[in-house]
This record gives sequence, structure tokens and C-alpha cells, in this order.
Amino acid sequence: MTRHNWTKKEILEIYNKPLMDLLYDAASIHRQYHDANSVQVSTLLSIKTGGCPEDCGYCPQAARYHTDIEGNDLMSVQQVKAQALRAKSSGSSRVCMGAAWRNVKDGPEFDNVLEMVRTINKLDMEVCCTLGMVTENQAQRLAEAGLYAYNHNLDTSEEYYKDVISTRSFEDRLQTIDNVRKTNVTVCSGGIIGMGETEADRAGMLVALSTLNPQPESVPINALVSVEGTPMENEKPVPIWDMIRMVATTRIIMPETQVRLSAGRTQMSREGQAMCFFAGANSIFAGDKLLTTPNPDVNEDMEMFKMLGLKPQKPFTKKSQPKTIEAKDSNFEAKGEKPKWTRPNHTIERNLEAQKK
Ligand code: SF4
Repeated sequence: MTRHNWTKKEILEIYNKPLMDLLYDAASIHRQYHDANSVQVSTLLSIKTGGCPEDCGYCPQAARYHTDIEGNDLMSVQQVKAQALRAKSSGSSRVCMGAAWRNVKDGPEFDNVLEMVRTINKLDMEVCCTLGMVTENQAQRLAEAGLYAYNHNLDTSEEYYKDVISTRSFEDRLQTIDNVRKTNVTVCSGGIIGMGETEADRAGMLVALSTLNPQPESVPINALVSVEGTPMENEKPVPIWDMIRMVATTRIIMPETQVRLSAGRTQMSREGQAMCFFAGANSIFAGDKLLTTPNPDVNEDMEMFKMLGLKPQKPFTKKSQPKTIEAKDSNFEAKGEKPKWTRPNHTIERNLEAQKK
């Protein structure tokens, strides 16, 4: 039975169990709810790169930090279609389109994104978007274009969030998730470990995710890839044991969710990844880049799948394919809303220092 009242204390107790007990419990639950040899494969596509006004301390796309990211304007629908076809032919069942925006703004760029969603859904692939904060009306427009999932990570615990980002609040994140929940689009929301947080913060993030009702259909667990020029450039790589414990704990408290091994896989051995799959991870991002950070090559992943006897999950295994409604038949007009997302602007020393460099 899926519980929505997990406490931080209970989650910490699970996270800190002897490893063999933790793995056994997680793998047992995993097998009750999922095909343990099936892994969902997504391709992440950065449709608009860099120049973001936010100050997320882990992100090389924030305009205020001095990284060597090459920025790009919004890709065309044709470019996106070509990339989606390539992803499909190499075994991906989902395309996740990311734009470095604070929030979605109604207008020609968003209309283009809606057209990209329609185009990919018609290729019989699951479509996910990660575009920053959205209003309910924008979420409805994405839903009727055929969006399958919306990604909006909580990143970390509510307490530690204030040490990572000063340009928006944790409450804004929850509001966007709530707006998406009012549609038939599934929710993808997870976080990053290795940003200097405590184990209690990791558990706090899992409390926030697992007490959502319903729980997110997909939870990405990222290991920080520290990029030169960002405030977190000096953070040490996350030990593989922390990743395994985080995956296993997520699996136990969110049994129905697809747990996604996300950023940081290049730093993991195949043995480490295999243990994550055993502990309940059943989704990965494929392709040599994750927005802007390196990721294993598709062929390497397919070799690993072969070696481990894993098979890529077919699209729409967990939920049926949404219907696409064409723009001319839309039931939702652009409202041109200007919601008051918060701008806390508290001080985060390491973010300010990175900005000055
Ligand atoms: S994580 Fe997203 S919102 Fe934050 S700076 Fe990067 S692109 Fe912008």
C-alpha cells in the first residue's frame, strides 16, 4: 500500500539500514510493483540553452555565472522532430524537452513548444517538458497538446532550498506541481544530492515528495555534476553508496513511482549502476549530454542493458497515450497571465561570490 504520511525520522531509519537489508527490502518492493528487468529510457533535449535569469547554485545555465556553456535560442519544431526520431530509433520511449526559463510566458515561443509536444506525441513517444514554473492554464494547454509528463524538481529539502536558490521559493515549486496535477499530465519531480546537504535534507526532500498525493509518477535522483564557474564547483562527487541508499529509500517509500537515475551516471561504474537498478531504479536518461553536462553514450548504455539482461520499457506502459488536440481546436486560450511567483532574494554567499568571479 502506498503511504502519504512518511516522516523524516522513518525515512532516515530506512536510509541508514544495514546495506544488505536496505537492498533486500527495496528489491522486494520493486518486484511487487514493477518488471524488475525493464527500464524506461528517456532522451533529454535542451531546446533552449543558457541565459537563465535564475540563480540555482548547481546550474551552469544561470546567466549570472561564468561557465563555458554555449547558449542557444529556442530550437525549431523540425529540429526537435529530427532529434526525437533519432532518439526513438536508439531505443528511447520518451523525449524530455528542457528550456532554461524561469517560467513559461504565453506567446510565440510557448506556441512553438506546444507544436513540438504535438509533433512528438504523434511519433508515439511519451513527451515530457521542463520549462520552469507554469500556471494552470499553461499546464492545460500542454495537456491538450498531448504532454505525457511535466518535470519540476524540488531539488532538495525545504530547509536547504534557501542555500541553493534565492530567486524563487520552495512554495513556488509546489504550486507548479499543483497546477500540473489539475490536468491529466503526470508529474516528474525529484532532486539532486551532493550539493552540501545533510542526510536529514535528503530525507526532508523525500518527505516532501512522498507526502504529495498522488506521489509523482517519476522521481529523478541526480548526483551533482559540479561545473566550473558555478557556486558548487568545488563540491566533491557523491559516493556511489549514497546514490544506492537514496535510490533504495525512494523505491521503498514511493513503490509505484519510476525512479530515474539521472545526472552523474558518468561518474558511476557499471557495477554501481547495476546496484542502483537492483535497488529499484527503473529509468535512465540516454544520450551523450544531459542538457549541458556529460552522460554515457547510447551505445554504452545498450551494451550495459545487454550485459545485465535489461530491456527498454515500451512507451505508454504505465499510462495510456494522451490525445493531441490541434491548436485550432483548443479549448484553452492564452491568458497572458503574469502570476506573482515569489522573488525571495535572500543572500547566498557562495552564489554571490560565483557571480563576482
Ligand atoms: S536549473 Fe533551470 S531555472 Fe535554475 S538556473 Fe538552471 S535553467 Fe535556470
